Amino acid sequence: MAPTATMPDGVGVAHLPNQRHKIVSKRGAKFTLMVCGESGTGKSTFVNTLFTTSIKDPKQLAKRHAKQVDKTVEIEITKAELEEKNFKVKLTIIDTPGFGDYVNNRDSWMPIVEFLDDQHESYMAQEQQPTRAGIIDLRVHACLYFIRPNGHTLKPLDIEIMRRLGTRVNLIPVIAKADTLTPNDMAKFKRNILDVIEAQNIRVYSCPIESEDESITTNNKDIMSALPFSVIGSTEDVVTADNRKVKGRQYSWGCAEVENENHCDFKKLRTLLVRSHMHDLISTTEEIHYENYRQIQMETRKFGEAKSKKYENPKHKEQEEKLRLAFTEQVKKEENRFRQWEAQLVTERDRLNKDLEEQHAKIKAMETELENVYQMQGRSMRR
Ligand code: GDP
Repeated sequence: MAPTATMPDGVGVAHLPNQRHKIVSKRGAKFTLMVCGESGTGKSTFVNTLFTTSIKDPKQLAKRHAKQVDKTVEIEITKAELEEKNFKVKLTIIDTPGFGDYVNNRDSWMPIVEFLDDQHESYMAQEQQPTRAGIIDLRVHACLYFIRPNGHTLKPLDIEIMRRLGTRVNLIPVIAKADTLTPNDMAKFKRNILDVIEAQNIRVYSCPIESEDESITTNNKDIMSALPFSVIGSTEDVVTADNRKVKGRQYSWGCAEVENENHCDFKKLRTLLVRSHMHDLISTTEEIHYENYRQIQMETRKFGEAKSKKYENPKHKEQEEKLRLAFTEQVKKEENRFRQWEAQLVTERDRLNKDLEEQHAKIKAMETELENVYQMQGRSMRR
């Protein structure tokens, strides 16, 4: 699916040309965003809210947990082209449905981490080719990790994957469904999360704060102080008590507004992603994360040597086993068919040989008979 969406004013991609590197504006930008976290935390809704358009299809909630047999996390890629005031962003959204869905979620982070490494690997391989035109680049510029709003702290699974993500991408922790926590509980939850992030040495994205322009410095500080960003996702229009039409969620007690800074940090996160720091996210991916990967690989691998696969998707393994069995079965069937055919041929050959022998014997008998007739005729002539 590759929808093209015209973004409403104020979303911000048009402000990208104001960023440090004007060159980006001429070419447009290619931005790859990964959303990660347990399913049902509102990732798809958030993506559609962020780009005020239906980029991702809604998931079927009833089917969410019905895949226990498959037991695997999938990587889902959606592409979209966004345009605002002639400024284009080629957007790629990477979703990871299935993560955290299963009874045993051990190792469910592996396909995600492997996907991130594979993108660096693929870029590195393409970079080593003589012609670089048409390079396919799916390196992830920002990874939003959605934390379920349980009001306590991070779960072991969150910690396990966040530690691994942080060393590979610009990791941005996000608290989903902010409307389900009171402001006090949210503040406590954020503190607990930050404590765990520090204690567990989880690397999260931090934008450059200082700038010559004081208002930018203040803005950067303001954005970073909100980490982990609380968000409300909704593409629905609701009407507030003071009669404003806004994007939000309607409750009997009132509205949870997506863009209200007293309700959540959606606006700050959107500013960071598509307005003030898109360029920084792109360049740090290249300069820090890709460089890190490249250096480690250069140190541990010989030139041209293929990357060793640490992880094999259990679903692929299962499919491979199924194919192998089907293939062996087919070969056995063909062998049997061939043997039967061979046996038929032998029987037919024996029958024909026997026939031939009989015919031969008949001819011999007729020859002898004929000879006898000649001999009898000769004798009577002589007399
Ligand atoms: P995903 O599996 O992480 O992509 O989650 P979805 O975007 O499909 O959302 C799962 C459910 O949560 C849907 O019913 C959404 O309407 C709901 N949802 C999404 N965002 C929010 C939010 O900010 N607040 C609340 N209360 N519900 C939300």
